[in-house]
Amino acid sequence: MIWDELDSELGALEHAGLRRTRRTLERPCGPEAQSGGRRLISFCSNDYLGLASDPRLIEAACAGARAWGVGSGASHLVSGHLGAHAELEAKLATFTGFARALLFSTGYMANLGVVPSLVGRNDAVFSDRLNHASLIDSVLLARAENQRYPHADLAALEGLLAASRARRKLILTDAVFSMDGDLAPLPELLELAERFDAWLVVDDAHGFGVLGPQGRGSVAHFALPATRRLVYMGTLGKAAGVAGAFVAGDATVIEWLVQHARTYIFTTASSPILACALTASLDLIAGADARREHLQRLVSELREGLGDTRWRLQPSPTAIQPVIIGDNHETLRIADALFERGLWVPAIRPPTVPRGTARLRVSLSAAHQAEHVARLVDALRDLA
Ligand SMILES: *Cc1c(COP(=O)(O)O)cnc(C)c1O
Repeated sequence: MIWDELDSELGALEHAGLRRTRRTLERPCGPEAQSGGRRLISFCSNDYLGLASDPRLIEAACAGARAWGVGSGASHLVSGHLGAHAELEAKLATFTGFARALLFSTGYMANLGVVPSLVGRNDAVFSDRLNHASLIDSVLLARAENQRYPHADLAALEGLLAASRARRKLILTDAVFSMDGDLAPLPELLELAERFDAWLVVDDAHGFGVLGPQGRGSVAHFALPATRRLVYMGTLGKAAGVAGAFVAGDATVIEWLVQHARTYIFTTASSPILACALTASLDLIAGADARREHLQRLVSELREGLGDTRWRLQPSPTAIQPVIIGDNHETLRIADALFERGLWVPAIRPPTVPRGTARLRVSLSAAHQAEHVARLVDALRDLA
């Protein structure tokens, strides 16, 4: 029977230490989580600035519901584009320094919308091997040739670009790699994009709100110009603390997306509640220098604390600090041992990361206190 196959495949996943389970949380997102009645210090969320449960955003969401209702009622191109969305888009464009910004429901959908709008059959996408799953899927959906280059290897990328006969070229990269925490060499990538007349599409899910002056993101961090060939995607469910995503760029590129991005056109506009909370969130992000400094201090404390243990820390300057263990089962064992001590760190396994590089993905937030990080460091040192 067709379902026997599912049972046996699920059994195989379990056996390989690859079966994932969900934990239900009994409190809002924050550094102190509760699950199954147990209190845990959580190092799991992407809520880098601690805004997900901020009372000011809760208030903005409630006020947004009163002003605009809870649903948008239609897609953006029909009648779902409300004033709350328009205000947020204008503010996102100003904040990121691009001519125009377009709101999507999620980062996944933004990526699936952008890449197939810009390239198709007979075109080529040049992707970093460690790109996020949504970027990988976007290339499949575009039906473009996928040329993958070794992680951050500019020489290899240049070779591929030089050899390519594709009609149109697009360089596709995470700005901050989601499972490693390191930054893509954006200035050099932009230089290659200029030289080979390619688009450069940057996914800044983990940089927006955290990096650059006032948290304006990775492009601002590198002080890159808002050139026409640079297309910037930022997500709004991580540092911004709410949900959604946007694409910012040249006015013509954004207009092209309005006309072509199927994940923009054929979906209901997200709730105006979210847009109102996000408009308030942008102000909090811009004023959150103290939070960003605190987060950076926590990163240093974790790195110094683990510096001389046997677990290899990646050269990550960001809030994403993976501890590479290698073996799936061992990674799970260590995650379980931490959990027993009230410390929740996710065990990330293939296919999310390459085989043999299973890891604990510690993700820090400005909402953590120094004492939370000290407890994690002590436990990890003990387990090492
Ligand atoms: C989280 C993430 C996404 C998806 O964003 P959502 O808004 O959660 O759908 C895309 N790219 C990267 C690099 C991410 O980490």
